[in-house]
Amino acid sequence: MNTSPVLILLGPPGAGKGTQARMLEKQFGLVQLSTGDLLRAAVAAGTPAGQAADAVMKAGALVSDQIVIDILRDRMADADCAKGVILDGFPRTAVQASALDELLAENGQKINAAISLEVDDAAMVERVAGRYTCGGCGEGYHDSFKVPAKAGVCDTCGGTEMKRRADDNAATVSGRLEAYHAQTAPLISYYEDNGALQRIDAMGEIDVIGAALSAAVSAIIALQH
Ligand code: AMP
Repeated sequence: MNTSPVLILLGPPGAGKGTQARMLEKQFGLVQLSTGDLLRAAVAAGTPAGQAADAVMKAGALVSDQIVIDILRDRMADADCAKGVILDGFPRTAVQASALDELLAENGQKINAAISLEVDDAAMVERVAGRYTCGGCGEGYHDSFKVPAKAGVCDTCGGTEMKRRADDNAATVSGRLEAYHAQTAPLISYYEDNGALQRIDAMGEIDVIGAALSAAVSAIIALQH
């Protein structure tokens, strides 16, 4: 029986899942599992899954459940995931949520909490369209909300190669928000019904949201011990 924590971060594109998952990873020694990152790596490596996912991701639609579940299952089998995981961007459909329950049950695990980052749609386009990351270490930045101390230089690693995602443009964001409302938002009730849901107001400053999330996760982990 594996008792390491399994946390889910739910929320639309731009809610801050990736930023906050990185913070939780550092603070609690958990592993951030982002299916978006895993898919982008598969696209870059040109694997069959990556080739199938590429056009779908560019269009802002959801990649097939089977591809995403297979990619997540493989990653969760890696030894580092035994420390506990924060799922960022997975599950996104009811089929993925059931597959996750089954996968965890096989290892004697279950979800400790599904944390919903609650935000207004109106803010999402601006948040997503202005974001970029350091190509060296993955630290996230934003044109208005989080600029590095020295323009173009990463505060964390000193890298100077900043990257913007191909799908972070205004045209694709509205499609991604639609996919979220149609296919992912219903999971909030799914986790509410099984008692795992926690809601965090994610409209404010990154640090304030981070502090609220960190307090919630401390309590969740304490409950487990
Ligand atoms: P993200 O980095 O989480 O914003 O994901 C970027 C894109 O990858 C999404 O717009 C989808 O095309 C795809 N993707 C990521 N995670 C999933 C998932 N769990 N299910 C289906 N598609 C996904």
